[in-house]
Amino acid sequence: MIDYHVHTDHSVDASGTIAEYCARALEIGLNEICFTNHCELDPERNDSFIMFDGGREPFSKENLLRLQEEIFNARERFKEHGLSVKFGIEVGYDPGIETTIKDVLDCVDLDFVIGAVHCLRHICIDSSKECGQYFDRHGMDEYFEDYYTTAAALIKSRLFDSLAHFDVYKKYGRDRYGPAINNFPRDAATRVFQLMVENDVALEINTAGMRFMNEFYPGPLLMELAHDCGLKRITIGSDSHRPTDLAKDLALAFDYARSYGFAETSTFDRRRSSSISI
Ligand SMILES: [Zn+2]
Ligand SMILES: [Zn+2]
Repeated sequence: MIDYHVHTDHSVDASGTIAEYCARALEIGLNEICFTNHCELDPERNDSFIMFDGGREPFSKENLLRLQEEIFNARERFKEHGLSVKFGIEVGYDPGIETTIKDVLDCVDLDFVIGAVHCLRHICIDSSKECGQYFDRHGMDEYFEDYYTTAAALIKSRLFDSLAHFDVYKKYGRDRYGPAINNFPRDAATRVFQLMVENDVALEINTAGMRFMNEFYPGPLLMELAHDCGLKRITIGSDSHRPTDLAKDLALAFDYARSYGFAETSTFDRRRSSSISI
């Protein structure tokens, strides 16, 4: 079993050291873990930092190399136990900051880069504290348009290997807009899936939705559409923010992916992908 979306205490909203996660991975029989800490880079926001020993540090080359060293040390230490440790990152995409993102990615030898839409119009829609600021000013149609336009731009930037938690907009959007949040704009979603196929970007099956709303990201109708659009490449991750959530519901996620016709999942090594059948 592999987990391709994991946050350690280097993310402001997560706990657990790299070593604690690796120990947990061995305990539950994982053979590969890919660390994907947050990397937010929007200059208009105040969340562009990485955590070391509980303190906030900027995304400088020096700090990225420090993170890399910790992960590479774990890779060496746990290799003999049969655990493969990968260096990934989850970058929050905002239109217009492509050069900044590229500069950060070029600093280190990453295996895997997930792109995520966390913010729209510089407001984090994946935060219970902040999302109201967006919802108070925009209706659901605008929400969909903003989200899908940003997701399309993320794919077209060609900076990312996989798109995180595709319909994360439903997490808090459902409370505000009701069940209509499930009626996603089909044309816009189709366009994003087609772009993913054209640009060889994987679709992430993310099990965190199960913990929030008893539904994977992406939900069933989007899975069906992704498959109909010819999308074949997926990645699977728990998006755990604490060691006890590592690999949570992954076996179910593999079944879920299979049930929509997906036959393999991708692993990455220095940004080059391989497929394993599921
Ligand atoms: Zn995310
Ligand atoms: Zn995440």
